[in-house]
Amino acid sequence: MVVHDVGGESRSPRRRRPSSRCHSTANLSLGSAGTHTILRDSRSPPYGANEVLDIIITGAGLSALLLAQSLLAVRDDIQLQLVGPSSTGRSHVLSYWSSEQTPFDLDVIASWSTVSIVDRHGHELRAPLKRNRYHTLRVEAWIDRMTQALGPRVEQITGTVEAIAPDDRSVRLRVGEHELKADWVFASHRVSSPPDCWQRFLGWEVTVPEPVCDLDVARIMDFRTAAEGDFRFVYLLPLTETRILVEHVSYEPCDHAAHLEAYLRDVLALSTWEVVRQESGATPIFRDPPPRTQNRVIPIGVGGGLAKPATGYAITRMWRDAEQIAASLRDHDEPIAAPARGMLYRLSDHYFVDLLGTDPSQICDLLTALFRHVPGDALLDFLDEQASLGDRLAVARWVPGWLKWLQSRSAS
Ligand SMILES: Cc1cc2nc3c(=O)[nH]c(=O)nc-3n(C[C@H](O)[C@H](O)[C@H](O)COP(=O)(O)OP(=O)(O)OC[C@H]3O[C@@H](n4cnc5c(N)ncnc54)[C@H](O)[C@@H]3O)c2cc1C
Repeated sequence: MVVHDVGGESRSPRRRRPSSRCHSTANLSLGSAGTHTILRDSRSPPYGANEVLDIIITGAGLSALLLAQSLLAVRDDIQLQLVGPSSTGRSHVLSYWSSEQTPFDLDVIASWSTVSIVDRHGHELRAPLKRNRYHTLRVEAWIDRMTQALGPRVEQITGTVEAIAPDDRSVRLRVGEHELKADWVFASHRVSSPPDCWQRFLGWEVTVPEPVCDLDVARIMDFRTAAEGDFRFVYLLPLTETRILVEHVSYEPCDHAAHLEAYLRDVLALSTWEVVRQESGATPIFRDPPPRTQNRVIPIGVGGGLAKPATGYAITRMWRDAEQIAASLRDHDEPIAAPARGMLYRLSDHYFVDLLGTDPSQICDLLTALFRHVPGDALLDFLDEQASLGDRLAVARWVPGWLKWLQSRSAS
């Protein structure tokens, strides 16, 4: 990527390549018959006051890089600008599952073909996977590779967005002293509307004197942690025999470090361990994702509602979202993709967020029942919104209280 530092000395950004498709008017932003086309003839530096870029992506984090890659894969003639601090220097692991190729696969450091949950009484329910695999990678390696792959095709301004002002034809952005203008802005730098709650977590990468769990099993939820009226779990990945990632997850604020210590000491029965790396975060969770288009500003990433409420996983959903947006650009010359989501997925998100608000203690019983009765692949595909109809119904069948909730919902 070509990086411009807003606060730095003057740099002269490269002039853009001429487009392969030509229009006769400079800065042309409207096609015929009211159809918006994103191509234009004018080629001026990105800070030019009158330049209207095709697309600006704010944030320069995961969803921004995924979207830049997907857009350029379908149209390398667009004027694309990333605005946001560089993501290099971030350090945490990222996990996902998939039965198909993803843009994350090359950086995977560990994979599992069995996932498990552990109920409150310590019974581990293992789900062997046939189609899917559960993978983990280090985000820093992925960002480095992604940044190199984008190469000079994408310009990045490393400043922060201070204001966004859409009008009917374009969107203006203030970045330091500069004003940028684009036909479309994909915004990942902010949470676009107030979330219903936050998923909060603290993770420790820990070295342990001896193996504490089965190296072949990714323990995605262990409910042996004090719930305190919340939905909480511990997530445990055996990275090697003597190195684990252990993460405490809650939806209400809590002392994650104290809970992690209690888990290591009382549940894993460890007397010594060393925390070699730490990661933490809070992911916005939405009962319904925010509106897709807000006056030519399109929220993407977790701020755009792409984290799955029940899990907080987001990266495969952000990747699929980017692919949809790119397909829309390729097929309709407009980068707006209407997300197509099955009704059961929407209802299950509503059900989960409603339970969080009313009776979070039910959630671990619900997930335990699902793990007990539904094949692992079906469950993971459902959580990733990729399940067949049969698998969707299989999941719905084992959700206790679901019908009662539906009835009360339609009555109100
Ligand atoms: C420690 C951690 C571990 C996670 N693990 C997983 C996981 O295992 N699996 C999974 O699916 N998800 C995981 N997530 C959730 C989610 O996938 C990540 O948060 C992911 O980075 C979200 O991508 P994003 O593009 O929405 O946000 P980000 O990647 O955070 O990108 C937003 C960017 O906006 C920039 N920014 C902020 N303000 C401004 C501004 N004013 N102007 C310009 N730029 C600005 C920030 O610098 C940031 O780079 C994890 C999150 C964290 C924090």
